[in-house]
Amino acid sequence: MTADDELEMPEQRAARRSGFDEIDILWISEGMSCDGDTVSVTASGQPSIEDVVLGLIPGLPKINLHNKVLSPTPGGEEFLQPFRAAARGELKPFILVIEGSIPNQNVIEGDGYWTSFGNDPETGAPLPLNWWLDHLAPKAWAVVAAGTCATYGGIHAMAGNPTGCMGLADYLGWEFKSRGGLPIVNIPGCPVQPENFMETLTWLLYHAAGTAPAPPLDEKLRPQWLFGRTVHEGCDRAGYYEQADFAKDYNSPKCQVKVGCWGPVVNCNVPKRGWISGVGGCPNVGGICIGCTMPGFPDMFMPFMDEPTGASLSSILAKPYGSFIRRMRGITNRVANKEPKWHHKQPVLTSGYDPRWRP
Ligand code: SF4
Ligand code: SF4
Repeated sequence: MTADDELEMPEQRAARRSGFDEIDILWISEGMSCDGDTVSVTASGQPSIEDVVLGLIPGLPKINLHNKVLSPTPGGEEFLQPFRAAARGELKPFILVIEGSIPNQNVIEGDGYWTSFGNDPETGAPLPLNWWLDHLAPKAWAVVAAGTCATYGGIHAMAGNPTGCMGLADYLGWEFKSRGGLPIVNIPGCPVQPENFMETLTWLLYHAAGTAPAPPLDEKLRPQWLFGRTVHEGCDRAGYYEQADFAKDYNSPKCQVKVGCWGPVVNCNVPKRGWISGVGGCPNVGGICIGCTMPGFPDMFMPFMDEPTGASLSSILAKPYGSFIRRMRGITNRVANKEPKWHHKQPVLTSGYDPRWRP
């Protein structure tokens, strides 16, 4: 910041920013998808989708959200109108959100499509998702992949699937840059954690307003501040793990690594953040982490309820240290659970109080 900048009033600084005052969000959930991410974001409280759309968050551009579940239109052609305008290059600027994995049209022999969104007005033939991606992604100010299917292929892309589907970066290229100069923004999760999505969207919108830098992403294009730590690092059962105290079944409140938890090697913040308003989660509340945010999901984590590869070695190594420490802590814990002997109602004070000052 220069000396001139310091003298500038906040209003003047705001006036010379180079952002947008209004932006459209074109959300297509016609990938190989269950709409679970669309449903999930309605649970966000910080911020809520309503607050963003109604303009209640200071400093954000005006938002025009087009999502088939969340937007109040009668549907059909009226709903498709902004998508068609954007494909013609008549809608600027817009953020393209894709939900669901991207099928491989090239493996279809003859006519047909795996999934479509609206029809071609000239021919009446369904327009495949791939057509929309080819026409919209190069024109979008930013491109966002919502959920693990759109980011990395997800469950629909598992071994043995017939569609040959993939994540958005596999389709557009990992080096893809949007009109706004941004890489694809991947927000994985199956479904996406509500506030993980809304927080990232809000950061992007501040960037669109010209008042924030671009959100920092890792090499898998995930927001760093959300996916930079493992499940295990934020799990409140990690104290049991450290003491080598492992659950033998799913009713136990202890560490679940031996009954299928992949938390130590999975990038996700859900146990630390909770699901809705800090409530819920996965291993923190008794559900093994199945790695649903990860590019290798689901194949590399199946069968889910078996002990993960590598977990037996680390738990064997933890055993001697963990059980010794647990015994030692047990002794100290019993001591700490006793009140001091001067807590009594006898007529003699035994707390050690001495009214005389001594140098
Ligand atoms: S339950 Fe899973 S994430 Fe939690 S401490 Fe155990 S291994 Fe780590
Ligand atoms: S903790 Fe594991 S199962 Fe739960 S959301 Fe995160 S990655 Fe998915």
